[in-house]
Amino acid sequence: MSKIRRVDAYLCDIEVERPRTDAIQAFLKQETIFVEIETEDAINGIGYSYTIGTGGRAVLQLLKQDLLHLLVGEDACQIEALWQKLFWATHATAVGAITSLALAAVDTALWDVRCKAARQPLWLLAGGAKKKVPLYDTEGGWLHLSTEELVQGAIESKKRGWPGVKLKIGKPYAEEDAERLQAVRQAIGSRMHLMVDANQSMTYPEAKRRARFLEEAGVFWFEEPLPAEDVSGHARLASSTSVPIAVGESIYSSSHFREYLATGAAGIIQVDAARIGGITPWLKVAHLAESFNVQVAPHFLMELHISLAAAVPNSLYVEHIPQLRAVTTREVQIEEGYALAPNEPGLGIAWDMQAIERTRVA
Ligand SMILES: [Mg+2]
Repeated sequence: MSKIRRVDAYLCDIEVERPRTDAIQAFLKQETIFVEIETEDAINGIGYSYTIGTGGRAVLQLLKQDLLHLLVGEDACQIEALWQKLFWATHATAVGAITSLALAAVDTALWDVRCKAARQPLWLLAGGAKKKVPLYDTEGGWLHLSTEELVQGAIESKKRGWPGVKLKIGKPYAEEDAERLQAVRQAIGSRMHLMVDANQSMTYPEAKRRARFLEEAGVFWFEEPLPAEDVSGHARLASSTSVPIAVGESIYSSSHFREYLATGAAGIIQVDAARIGGITPWLKVAHLAESFNVQVAPHFLMELHISLAAAVPNSLYVEHIPQLRAVTTREVQIEEGYALAPNEPGLGIAWDMQAIERTRVA
């Protein structure tokens, strides 16, 4: 038993390291919602979730007004019980992004406590499937970049030994997307994975049309072609193209993933630990995907997802977008295109508490 003595939550704005744009939005700052949990046996857990610029204060208010007080006096190691208690306490606003992000900040803090209490790293305690996971790079593929910049970025990624790169698509004319893609494919050759991401910007007919040139370019996956709510549209698209359809970053419940998997609407699952409500549901979704013989390539949150991808056997890739350098004291360890799962007890993120304090806004 590890009785919870104190819980706190606050919001920090962490600047992006470079401008990030896609077909529907720009990512200008990471609103980071932190939750700190202290137990009576003096274990401190830190958890977090995020938004890409809006809604962070709503998440913080939900935590402070309705959720955190429910944790005090409870056993921090009973994570399933606490997750359910909080979920049902706020059920009238679930399933939804704000609620999932609030639950994730608590759940990741509880996992930090659990791992520290057990003196185990997250990747091991959560499953222990592998010690390292391959990375693909997204930082060189934003939609505002010129074709020359895309080519340069992809060549640099290849030189660093990374096995994959991702490009944003969704230019007004399909031909422009096709030209940019072909230029990158020519530059990197056929022995490197090339993914594309439309960020839910297309209709089914448009996605079907563009999937043809994605096939020609040997694209490894077609990410979020349609709005995430449109499971049947994704199912039709998946059956009309040989390019695997990847979804997950805009999905907030494991049941929604079940619909995708059961209907064959997704070939790759990109479950995001913050948006699904924490590590507890993340693992359930990864195991659910495994039962369908589908791999997981989690969205964003590289610093946390390395450990989770290392925990499960069906992980495929982790997405390289460094975002926590300004508030941590140690870089993610990368060797020949693989990220090494951190080995110290806890989530394995070396927070710089003074730097976090400097970025605090609420
Ligand atoms: Mg995406």
